[in-house]
Amino acid sequence: MANTYDICIRGAGIVGRALALLLARERLRVALVAPAGVAPVSASGHGDVRAYALNAASRALLESLRCWPDERSATPVLRMEVQGDDGGSVRFDAFEQGSAALTWIVDVPALERQLADAVRFQPLIDVLEAPVDAALTVVCEGKASRTRSEFGVEFNARPYPQHAVATRLETEKPHGQTAWQWFTPSDILAFLPLDGPAGNSVAVVWSVPHERVPDLLAAPAQDFCLMLEAASHHTLGRLSLIGERASWPLQLARADRWVGRGWALAGDAAHTVHPLSGQGLNLGLADVGALAQVLQDREDWRSPGDLKLLRRYERARKSDVLATGLATDGLQQLFALPGAPAQALRNWGMSGFDRLGPVKDWVTRRAMGTRSGL
Ligand SMILES: Cc1cc2nc3c(=O)[nH]c(=O)nc-3n(C[C@H](O)[C@H](O)[C@H](O)COP(=O)(O)OP(=O)(O)OC[C@H]3O[C@@H](n4cnc5c(N)ncnc54)[C@H](O)[C@@H]3O)c2cc1C
Repeated sequence: MANTYDICIRGAGIVGRALALLLARERLRVALVAPAGVAPVSASGHGDVRAYALNAASRALLESLRCWPDERSATPVLRMEVQGDDGGSVRFDAFEQGSAALTWIVDVPALERQLADAVRFQPLIDVLEAPVDAALTVVCEGKASRTRSEFGVEFNARPYPQHAVATRLETEKPHGQTAWQWFTPSDILAFLPLDGPAGNSVAVVWSVPHERVPDLLAAPAQDFCLMLEAASHHTLGRLSLIGERASWPLQLARADRWVGRGWALAGDAAHTVHPLSGQGLNLGLADVGALAQVLQDREDWRSPGDLKLLRRYERARKSDVLATGLATDGLQQLFALPGAPAQALRNWGMSGFDRLGPVKDWVTRRAMGTRSGL
């Protein structure tokens, strides 16, 4: 007898796999479509060099699926230091927020392995090469999704004049569970602590103008590290390269519709933001958490593909995604403005913000995914 499925999920990235596990837990039968030949997430071909900053809400969701990596692969961040281009700075401290960590820096291959293993052992999920009929199809194919346009969705994308170059470094000084970010008009450089509390390695995300990317990828390792030492003001001492270098084009994008009769979008297939805020996957995991909740709470007589039901999901998520996209975009544009007055204003704004206790706390809690602070 042919298999019948309640849900067909197209795309087996982190968002698609997390959704499959959430729905199988609700006793729904899931087809997870991962065709051979579709490009893997990694651009380098050697496993993804990235590490993601994941917030408390993402951690809770992944823990509920028993997919949260161990502490070496999910380093808790106790402090964040953000530096402007003319003395402005903002500091965040987990202790001041009364929290165990501001965020966790999660090794991407470790998280992908946890999710893949959990999917393999879940009997209600079948991993298939081709899509199948189901009451609901959820498109989790990432930003370059093809199925999205088959559903007639407009994906409004504005490319940034930057690419992100990512890699990993060993550092002379231990990171001390601190994450750093340095803003200049052309670049945004982030060092994210790896390998647990006592580690001395960092994941790097360096957002730079397109034209510098080929040289940065091709530079001899030693020259590349010297450039990073200068750009990070020698904060962690001597640096050595311990990972591949890979690059990603960056864009702000949003689908005009997220749902229709029998289908929904989630994750990067619905929206992408600049990685400077480390929020893209946090938004995608919040999408699948909300969709699973809406499906769980549905009236008995409603099918999972019922349009009214799916609109509940769209309403629940759109404002959060819009707010995060606008805030991230505003910060990127503020630092891209040329000229001394703009420079003075943004650095004055950063230091002023640093002294604004309640506002800073509010913003911090929002980014941390601890809504109780709102
Ligand atoms: C440099 C950089 C740093 C980042 N840092 C952070 C961070 O610190 N924190 C954070 O929260 N986010 C971060 N992000 C964002 C994060 O990478 C994305 O939001 C996240 O990967 C989206 O996951 P996804 O599963 O929706 O899409 P993807 O990861 O793109 O996965 C989509 C999957 O679908 C598959 N697929 C594609 N087409 C088809 C098809 N036709 N049929 C079936 N399958 C298909 C793909 O092969 C892939 O496996 C960062 C992004 C970049 C570029």
